[in-house]
Amino acid sequence: MKKPIILTVDDEIEVSNAIERDLRSQYGKEYKIIKTNSGSEALETARLLKKRDDHIALFVTDQRMPEMEGTEFLEEAIKIYPDARKVLLTAYADTNAAITAINKLGLDHYLMKPWDPPEEKLYPILTDLLNSWHAGSHSTFEGIRVIGLPWDPASYHVKDFLARNNIPYKWLDVEVNEEAKRLLEIAGSSNHELPLLLFPDGSSMNKPENREIAERVGLQTIANEPLYDLVIVGAGPAGLAAAVYSASEGLKTLVVEEQAPGGQAGMSSRIENYLGFPVGLSGSELTHRAVTQARRFGVEILSAQKVVKLVPDGVSKKVVLQDGSELLCKALLIATGVSYRTLNAKGVDKLTGAGIYYGASMSEGPSVKDKDVFVVGGANSAGQAAMYFSRFAKSVTILIRADSISKSMSQYLIDQIASTANIKIQPKTEIIETIGTSRLGCIKLHHMDTNSEEIVEASTVFIFIGAFPRTDWLGDQIARDSHGFILSGTSIKADARFKSATNNRIPSLLETNIPGVFVAGDVRQGSVKRVASAVGEGSMAVMFVHQYLNTI
Ligand SMILES: Cc1cc2nc3c(=O)[nH]c(=O)nc-3n(C[C@H](O)[C@H](O)[C@H](O)COP(=O)(O)OP(=O)(O)OC[C@H]3O[C@@H](n4cnc5c(N)ncnc54)[C@H](O)[C@@H]3O)c2cc1C
Repeated sequence: MKKPIILTVDDEIEVSNAIERDLRSQYGKEYKIIKTNSGSEALETARLLKKRDDHIALFVTDQRMPEMEGTEFLEEAIKIYPDARKVLLTAYADTNAAITAINKLGLDHYLMKPWDPPEEKLYPILTDLLNSWHAGSHSTFEGIRVIGLPWDPASYHVKDFLARNNIPYKWLDVEVNEEAKRLLEIAGSSNHELPLLLFPDGSSMNKPENREIAERVGLQTIANEPLYDLVIVGAGPAGLAAAVYSASEGLKTLVVEEQAPGGQAGMSSRIENYLGFPVGLSGSELTHRAVTQARRFGVEILSAQKVVKLVPDGVSKKVVLQDGSELLCKALLIATGVSYRTLNAKGVDKLTGAGIYYGASMSEGPSVKDKDVFVVGGANSAGQAAMYFSRFAKSVTILIRADSISKSMSQYLIDQIASTANIKIQPKTEIIETIGTSRLGCIKLHHMDTNSEEIVEASTVFIFIGAFPRTDWLGDQIARDSHGFILSGTSIKADARFKSATNNRIPSLLETNIPGVFVAGDVRQGSVKRVASAVGEGSMAVMFVHQYLNTI
């Protein structure tokens, strides 16, 4: 297996030697350190490495260089290695340049020179960045190979599942990759049986279900204990925050997750407004950190398992999973978030997963390279996706029905979009048909102001048009509003079922109409749909769980 690379750029020999020395002593075993002395030399090296299929994990560049500044170098370097982490070495006077680079280039960190002692000022930052680079799905890992068709929904789902569960894989497109064709022939599989997953031990799987993959790669799918203090449904930010607090406070805790930890936040390319991360962090980084933290405290996380029923039976609550298995708990937290609304246009169902996607799977970035991409929606999630895909695609067009994004998107994203040359906003426009046989080829647009129609070529459409709560599995036993959001606290104060079950106790802020069943995050009626508030509610819920457990 090839070592990933850390590439340094510095024209000052002393600084260049110092950074090389420090990097080599800390990371030399796992990374190859390559030193260059100018932006142009570094770019030439990066292009060469790319041709050799090597992976650059991190660029560390000085800002002040006579021929090409660090930020100018990074602007070019990310075209070659869009996923590499980027660190700028600065003097105090370069702070403005660094902040501009955070907004414009997605700079991950800027470090003041000198960085002594490196144990304090250099390594913690770089180790974090390298870990987060590894957490993305990079093909340095030569374990699982996924052979599939680029436009096949089944291949897309497998890649998405692996990526969102942080399981590294190598994608081999059977249409263009000779190795993929050869491996397919050896395995005796046909195109109908794709994707084909090849494991390092020589075993394989055709068109597997998420559950089969989860079991094969060693994710937990079966609970270890007969009874838990707290079961949490959903491993989004709310569920994971609750899990960390609950287990760290000694409660036996289990989380059940249907798809992959991280929830909606896991799909975010860059969360820029979460406290404590001044340069933002990707949803997969946040998830990786949260899952590691939860596991450290002993939380069990069941993957690829869906909760389909709740049977409250007095003090103990039974949770039924889709595979028929059952869990018992004293308290339950529902943190199932929301799901995307589907686009109501002709042809969409047939092409979903074959050029039309809900949300933005980060695994799709490289597959839209040099293509014309459309993003439907005007909220922050659409803006983030547009920014992310603009790094790969030839063009990104944001389609909105309103006349501008000013009311629906945060100003920082509006500014970023305005300064990104290959993103265009098309207002007062909706998709009314998607056209293609096995994959998306064109979309039919309706221009609302002129009431005219237009067919345009489109390879990929990402849809972000609002969401609905994931509560249909609860039936009518849990009180919900007319949209399906779960009522809690003061909203259920007058609920007769709650009153009679608790002898007129006042429900706690996040308690539902069933005593001991709590709700947190986007699925709760009236919640603020943000990562920080989901994390806050998840954390708070644990205090109410403790209070409840003291009463039983
Ligand atoms: C692309 C995108 C970008 C965003 N960017 C930002 C941002 O920059 N800043 C910000 O503050 N907010 C952002 N948001 C919003 C933020 O991600 C959400 O508010 C937050 O994720 C809500 O967390 P949650 O835990 O309540 O629910 P979710 O994140 O929706 O997680 C719920 C989880 O429950 C699981 N689940 C559902 N039903 C079941 C079931 N029956 N059984 C088992 N598991 C189940 C789901 O699979 C999911 O993983 C973004 C959202 C999206 C989609």
